[in-house]
Amino acid sequence: VPVTASATSRTAHWIQADRDRLIHPNLPADRQDRIVMVEGNGCRVRDSTGRSYLDAAAVLGMMQVGHGRSELAEVAAAQMNALECFHTWELMSNDKAVELAVRLAELAPAGLERVFFTSGGAEGNEVALRMARYFHHRAGRPERTWVLSRKSAYHGIGYGSGSVSGLPVYHEGFGPTMPDVHHLTAPDPYQLQQYGEEGVTDFCLRELRETIERIGPGRIAAMIGEPVMSVGGAVVPPADYWPRVAELLRQHGILLIFDEVVTGYGRTGHWFAAEHFGVTPDIMVTAKGLTSGYVPHGAVLVSDEVTEMITRNGFPIGFTYTGHPTACAVALANIDLIDHENMLENATKTGAYLAQRLAGLQDLPVVGEVRQLGLMLGIELVADKQTRTPLPTGTAPVATALREEAGIILRGNPRALLINPPLVLSRDEADELAEGLYAVLQRVNADGSVRAA
Ligand code: PLP
Repeated sequence: VPVTASATSRTAHWIQADRDRLIHPNLPADRQDRIVMVEGNGCRVRDSTGRSYLDAAAVLGMMQVGHGRSELAEVAAAQMNALECFHTWELMSNDKAVELAVRLAELAPAGLERVFFTSGGAEGNEVALRMARYFHHRAGRPERTWVLSRKSAYHGIGYGSGSVSGLPVYHEGFGPTMPDVHHLTAPDPYQLQQYGEEGVTDFCLRELRETIERIGPGRIAAMIGEPVMSVGGAVVPPADYWPRVAELLRQHGILLIFDEVVTGYGRTGHWFAAEHFGVTPDIMVTAKGLTSGYVPHGAVLVSDEVTEMITRNGFPIGFTYTGHPTACAVALANIDLIDHENMLENATKTGAYLAQRLAGLQDLPVVGEVRQLGLMLGIELVADKQTRTPLPTGTAPVATALREEAGIILRGNPRALLINPPLVLSRDEADELAEGLYAVLQRVNADGSVRAA
């Protein structure tokens, strides 16, 4: 698309107005540049200057079905024409909320057949934490208030969800966090040195056992965790980690909450990552891929045992948008697209293909590891392979070079580049992504700077 004079002047207007008016997450005030996105199709998005990008982040890990699916726009319009919005407090219900709850109960691991709707991931985790404490309270165990989480976890920026998140940036400067939260060591097979002779799972299990003994099993409500850490670095735990954690928690009557906000709805090649690990949590929080982000929505799936306890006298809390019919209608149509177009299979196959294409990156001096589950990949960047030390700059300069030079959009945490493309990624697009990554990563220095091409 040629860059026209009007595109240039409109872009200049939007950038200036953005600087004057918009508060962005995580953007220093002296940063002058902006990229103004205006359209998308499949795995591609286009900015206001006409530049096209490969969206290897699926926006923020939620665009399962790809951009620009008119089917979803049509479903949203039809539902808005019929009944745009109603609530589900007390005895009120609506047809789309019911149909979606039924569909989710069919998809979820057996035993998770009750559904509470939210508008996103953090809201879902707030609800899950409240459900866990309320469950024990109603069961006559009000002293069970503690929540175990993990370092490097990301669960959103609500009061509870932010408190159980394990990255210091979400705590510092925001005043007291929620009490009765403990962060355990996360299982991270690349950072092996943390675990000594014991190895990853034994170390984590011993720490969990000792923590339960120290706090007292009768004081712990739940443990929350992402089955595969996303923001923390696409970290896939050893296969025996979750089954052993789940068993230990069960022995002590501690609920397990899975945060499947990123991993849910096909990202790992399963409807839910719980299936991959063979573990059924008591509460499973989902959002993002539920609607592919076309409208904000989330669903918390809950066991019968927890549901029956918390609803006996009416579960007293809900959101304005709990059970929003337009969001539910879009979610139903989105799930149909994932299902009918075999996107789980594509996540498995194209994910494995991409991992194989990227394996050679590990020969480069700055690439410590390429890890993958379905279409969730992490590329660990290191200054030194021996000590496994991260690049001093973090991964941001590399992500910028990928965008500017290769037209690839992805995000990174301080240690790893995160690749979460739409689940419709084709082999050609996987090749394009791999070529862009090779072209840029071979020019990255140990100090994190990127040499000119
Ligand atoms: N949980 C996980 C694992 C996430 O990655 C995120 C967001 O990235 C959240 C929760 C928060 O979701 P939301 O931003 O929809 O509140």
